[in-house]
Amino acid sequence: MREERFDVIVVGLGAMGAAALYQLAKDGAKAVGIDRYVPPHVQGSSHGDTRVTRLAVGEGPAYIPLVRRSHLIWRELEAQSGEDLFEQCGVLVMTSSGAPTLHHGVADFTARTTELARQHGIAHEVLTASQIRMRFPQFGPIRDDAIGYFEPEGGFVRPERCIAAQLNAARELGAVLVTDATVRSIRSEGATVRIKAGDRAFVADKVIVCAGMWSASLLGEPFSTLLKVCRQKLFWFKLEAPSIFPEDSPSFILTHGPSETDACYGFPPIPGEGSMKIATEQYSGLHSLDALDRNVSEAEAEEMFRSHVLGQIAGVTSDLVKASVCAYTVTPDHNFIIDEHPTLANVTVVSACSGHGFKHSAAIGEAVAQRCLRGQSQIDLSAFSLRRFF
Ligand SMILES: Cc1cc2nc3c(=O)[nH]c(=O)nc-3n(C[C@H](O)[C@H](O)[C@H](O)COP(=O)(O)OP(=O)(O)OC[C@H]3O[C@@H](n4cnc5c(N)ncnc54)[C@H](O)[C@@H]3O)c2cc1C
Repeated sequence: MREERFDVIVVGLGAMGAAALYQLAKDGAKAVGIDRYVPPHVQGSSHGDTRVTRLAVGEGPAYIPLVRRSHLIWRELEAQSGEDLFEQCGVLVMTSSGAPTLHHGVADFTARTTELARQHGIAHEVLTASQIRMRFPQFGPIRDDAIGYFEPEGGFVRPERCIAAQLNAARELGAVLVTDATVRSIRSEGATVRIKAGDRAFVADKVIVCAGMWSASLLGEPFSTLLKVCRQKLFWFKLEAPSIFPEDSPSFILTHGPSETDACYGFPPIPGEGSMKIATEQYSGLHSLDALDRNVSEAEAEEMFRSHVLGQIAGVTSDLVKASVCAYTVTPDHNFIIDEHPTLANVTVVSACSGHGFKHSAAIGEAVAQRCLRGQSQIDLSAFSLRRFF
């Protein structure tokens, strides 16, 4: 079989891979991106219309340069593509619980977010329950002791559009896209890496693997031990007519009880759609990817409405407009892994981006492209190294 030669191969063209391929092509590398489907698609972790973005990333300060840089890259891509990618509608983080809370593995998420904003000079307002009710009547039912954090520079990004914009730009800059081709093997031999995908063979100096929920099966140990894939459900509930839930609302994260399951997040209604998207985070892992049930049942929709909308959010009915299943790929500490593969030389692994990766993806793509082409990145990625687990 004739081998096709490139400087860099990107495996997986979802959030991380599309960003990496775009940045490699922009930097003049001869790059190819390979995906088992035709991205953007609904089989992985990057679909469902919207993703929350915020600068004060309560998951930790190492993320802040990534999200800041990503916001700039989304704007650059908007100017190039003419697409709306980043809606800066603000983000409202609220805790409305009488007991200590846990969210994304972080205790007291609202307080942590506020503290980070103060430390890093991020514009924000701290709101009392009555201020939240006055400005955002859709959260009228919150407890009297609730606290809120409002960040005007946050909002949401459109994942499918971001991926498409970066892949189109990459193609225009000379990158090759190979879709409907599953990478079956990755072999390091001296200074090169060989890949087989579908009925084609590729060879390159460097490979970046961004395989999302398929990372463990493609990469083996230690990823199969470290990564857990968790089924997530997204719900769009119809708004009341007339509704007090306005289209110019911020994205929101609401923790309304002590356990990790007492939290939800959601988005302003997309103009003209008449519905509000809301979701929770689930951390029970699948025993195999074949066990991923891609259908949302009526009972699951009822449970979602009863536990997270009723008595928490006003202006929304229990009528389900649509639903979708997506997957998180989670590490034991909920933080990313962006590092060299420990046994495959010249292979960088980028994909265990848990439930909070999209907002950082544009800058992660840029940083890994810099690492591949120049040996180091402008943004420090050391917090995401594999070594922290050993
Ligand atoms: C329900 C849900 C809500 C989320 N909400 C937020 C949010 O509000 N804010 C936020 O910042 N983040 C959020 N995230 C996280 C964010 O969306 C993910 O971190 C990010 O999209 C993951 O991107 P990825 O590139 O790692 O994976 P994916 O986008 O799934 O891409 C992986 C790609 O690899 C391809 N692939 C896999 N194996 C192979 C192979 N062997 N050969 C070829 N191709 C292969 C797949 O086809 C796929 O296209 C959410 C995630 C989910 C699931």
